[in-house]
Amino acid sequence: MKINANFANLKPSYLFRDIAQKTAEYKAAHPETDIIKMGIGDVTLPLCKAAVTAMEKAVAEMGNKETFHGYPEAFGESFLLEAISNYYKKEMGVRLDTNEICVTCGAKEDVSNILDIFSADNTVLIPDPVYPVYYDTNVMDGRKINFISSNESNSFLPLPDENTKGDIIYLCSPNNPTGAAYTRDQLKIWVDFALSHDAVILYDAAYEIFVSDPDCPRSIFEIEGAEKCAVEFCSFSKTAGFTGTRCGYTVIPSELSFDNTSLLSLWKRRQSTKFNGVAYIIQRGAAAVLSDEGVKQIRENINYYRTNTANMMNTFDKLNIKYYGGKNSPYIWLKCPNNMKSWEFFDLLLTKCGVVGTPGEGFGVNGEGFFRLSGFGDVNRTLEALQRIQKLFE
Ligand code: PLP
Repeated sequence: MKINANFANLKPSYLFRDIAQKTAEYKAAHPETDIIKMGIGDVTLPLCKAAVTAMEKAVAEMGNKETFHGYPEAFGESFLLEAISNYYKKEMGVRLDTNEICVTCGAKEDVSNILDIFSADNTVLIPDPVYPVYYDTNVMDGRKINFISSNESNSFLPLPDENTKGDIIYLCSPNNPTGAAYTRDQLKIWVDFALSHDAVILYDAAYEIFVSDPDCPRSIFEIEGAEKCAVEFCSFSKTAGFTGTRCGYTVIPSELSFDNTSLLSLWKRRQSTKFNGVAYIIQRGAAAVLSDEGVKQIRENINYYRTNTANMMNTFDKLNIKYYGGKNSPYIWLKCPNNMKSWEFFDLLLTKCGVVGTPGEGFGVNGEGFFRLSGFGDVNRTLEALQRIQKLFE
């Protein structure tokens, strides 16, 4: 028996462990410090009422012989598929056949599992900095990985040029960690590139609900031609606070094919073999989130998080500290003042303000000198953190 030797090529993932360790050590030495955490990308508001009510009802159904459900449908229950299709039509003007949507336990799983349907011979193109899962899952499979540099000169929205090479292209917009969001024109450049290079775009739209700029699409399927080159991943995690409840979905257009083979049919084949569907109770909650009342309620939560990003942007504008993101994203990607390195700035904020953020260096080489702050926290605590930061830099 031999293990998968590609695992030896993974870089150790120390980012959040190191943050936790440094924070704990500082707290132990300075127990009087009231530490405010602005680093984690997890949500903090509870599930909306519509989701809770629907799940309570579903629990009762499961406890009754007449209404009990066994294994769920492998690709999602029709009520949820219809709710997702309606959401796309209403919110983004995108028409999706319910057959093109596959419900799953979340986007992290999907952006990794999708690789089962692609040859390990493909070259992957990944922006740097990036959500680390795209990179690590491809290292595990032994694929060749090219990076495209996401940096200040392209406002963290890299576009392909004549040197760009990749069969499988990961795009995340609005982006984690940079908060940057592609415009329609920019995404069209990527779509045209993929079409002319016989490449597939794996589009991570986990933060679509945060888009406020009408020039920025929320789905890649708002772009003409995307149905012939793109797969979209989305999730109820950030949209509706489902990080602990787990529900997401993948959209694969029925006309998307490579080597004369439909990717949708390959994905369904993969899913029906390796996945047994999302729990009925959870799917009921997710469908309720997408009802008119549910969307109203989750929008209230999104606006709460937006208050945090607005307060951050206000403070950093006042302090003349440069940042990206915030407008279409729960993340602020801050340029560390005075040319500080990411970890230097981490130490400064921790020791002088008792504030914890995420060093950008942990997301890739181009993240060095940047720092991610999350808008998912409590409004009053975030304000308190910003007041401390303001005092330090005024
Ligand atoms: N994609 C991006 C870009 C993310 O930042 C995250 C989580 O932070 C995910 C996917 C994971 O989403 P899920 O909770 O649906 O697995």
